[in-house]
Amino acid sequence: AKKSGKGCYRLWDRSYLQDSTPERIQIESELREGIERGELILHYQPKVNAVAGELHSLEALVRWQHPRLGLIYPDSFIGIAEESNLIVELDRWVIAAVAEQQLAWRKQGLVIVPVSLNVSASHITRADLVLLFAQILNEHPELANYIEVELTETAIMADPDQATISLNHLLHLGVKSSVDDFGSGYTSLGYLKKLNANTLKIDRTFIDDITEDGYDRDVAKAIIALANSLSMEVVAEGVETKAQWDLLASFGCQYLQGYYFSKPKPAEEIARLLASQK
Ligand code: C2E
Ligand code: MG
Ligand code: MG
Repeated sequence: AKKSGKGCYRLWDRSYLQDSTPERIQIESELREGIERGELILHYQPKVNAVAGELHSLEALVRWQHPRLGLIYPDSFIGIAEESNLIVELDRWVIAAVAEQQLAWRKQGLVIVPVSLNVSASHITRADLVLLFAQILNEHPELANYIEVELTETAIMADPDQATISLNHLLHLGVKSSVDDFGSGYTSLGYLKKLNANTLKIDRTFIDDITEDGYDRDVAKAIIALANSLSMEVVAEGVETKAQWDLLASFGCQYLQGYYFSKPKPAEEIARLLASQK
């Protein structure tokens, strides 16, 4: 490998990470310490209703505020965390942090909306995930229906029977779920009903070119129709233009998320947004 220049850019270069075990191990141990030192933060991205573009709910997205490298996005470290047990600690931190944030906003007298968080594939089939939610909701029953989980289609299909069990347990506790990045994997439609997931999130790749590409448009339309016929809600992710909004609304898509409405933002900015709600 080339000697890294200034900074540690090479450390975060994806291709470099893939074939460089020592660096991966170093990042893993830095991340472990980072979690303990409180270096993870959450940003929140609004989901809005497609009729009026009004706030409906939020998605929590993790970032790592690295002391030397600055703000690091999840694509650079979730994969590494997933390869070790660290993802369990990371997800547990996120769940606790979302619960704390919800309680804090409540205390400030703000209108609160449901917040979804992303759970990793390797975690969903573990009984202790359900247990953690059970503990939090037992302690704070007022959070039922205000914390939700997002699981990628690929994660679900890695072990659909276990995912079904976990998601049904969570639903019992008052934790709804979304199938994230839907359309990018290979869901057996037979499972979709059994999963009892509340929402389908159309993968961003179909939204990107939706106004120009007939195929992407047909896929998005079909996913919306599928969600409607299964009585599921549907969210389009990655909406960046008004033209995409109009098209998705005309197909009957209920909720939208993307830079057109808002980028993911720190909690303080979201508090101002919540304060402006009636
Ligand atoms: P995701 O859950 O599908 O999240 C959507 C990603 O798309 C986010 O990137 C978001 O910032 C980005 N995005 C939203 N709207 C737009 C748009 O209009 N245009 C474009 N180009 N991008 C948009 P982010 O925050 O970098 O997260 C990437 C992925 O990392 C997430 O995909 C999720 O799979 C994973 N992730 C994020 N936070 C967590 C977490 O707390 N735990 C776990 N296990 N995974 C997480
Ligand atoms: Mg998500
Ligand atoms: Mg997604």
